[in-house]
Amino acid sequence: MRTVLITGGSRGIGAACVRAFSELGDRVIFLYRENHAAARAVSAETGAEAIQCDVSDPEAVQRTFAALPPVDVLVNNAGISSFSLFQDLTEDDWSRMMETNLGGAFRCTKGVLPAMISRKTGCIINISSMWGQVGAACEVHYSTAKAGLIGMTKALAKEVGPSGIRVNCVAPGVISTEMNAALSADDLKALEDETPLGRMGTPAEIGRVVTWLASDDAAFFTGQVISPNGGLII
Ligand code: NDP
Repeated sequence: MRTVLITGGSRGIGAACVRAFSELGDRVIFLYRENHAAARAVSAETGAEAIQCDVSDPEAVQRTFAALPPVDVLVNNAGISSFSLFQDLTEDDWSRMMETNLGGAFRCTKGVLPAMISRKTGCIINISSMWGQVGAACEVHYSTAKAGLIGMTKALAKEVGPSGIRVNCVAPGVISTEMNAALSADDLKALEDETPLGRMGTPAEIGRVVTWLASDDAAFFTGQVISPNGGLII
């Protein structure tokens, strides 16, 4: 049985990944930051183990990972978003974004990699965003962190491929989760209208891409960016 670790599994895309891997019969462990009720609900529904761990906190990650069994599949999904003009971004805004969306993936990957290397097998999937591919106005910090994840995916895939470890990236378009709750109904409608397939994606659709990337069907994929985005960017 594989052990799958998903960061940010209490809600949205991460929760969909928890469901999808649990349905395959994997042992699933997920991390969350603060939303105990949501984490308990996902855990009760799927049987997955929930652990509170802020991925932006190096000590918390170190403590948590020291107690984990060897991980076969890591999904670096935990993330935050916020909107601001570039000139209004503060040092705090910038570092919170980098430490969560990029630093979290860095330190969680470091936490699982030694055991993957010694076992010569493993799969890491980073959840980026289409904004990491093309950039979004008023989300320069978010776009920068998400572009960083794409760079990390490609470089690490080259470094650890010879150790039998695959590293890939999923860069979703607009997905219907609480992350987009800050957008107005008009903004969401405009994004749907701009999308050739005419709608937002669902978390379950991303969960299926992630489980596929972690499967033997994707055994020759590494260093790749897959973009389930309804055609919004092509
Ligand atoms: P949600 O806001 O719905 O969920 C975010 C999840 O991440 C929650 O489980 C939250 O935990 C967790 N989380 C946030 N910060 C931390 C932290 N510091 N430590 C541990 N866990 C944390 O987001 P989505 O499901 O929409 O997004 C998931 C990922 O997909 C993100 O990386 C996002 O950038 C990316 N993405 C989302 C898109 C979208 O349109 N929704 C599009 C493209 C990419 P808690 O519940 O405790 O707060």
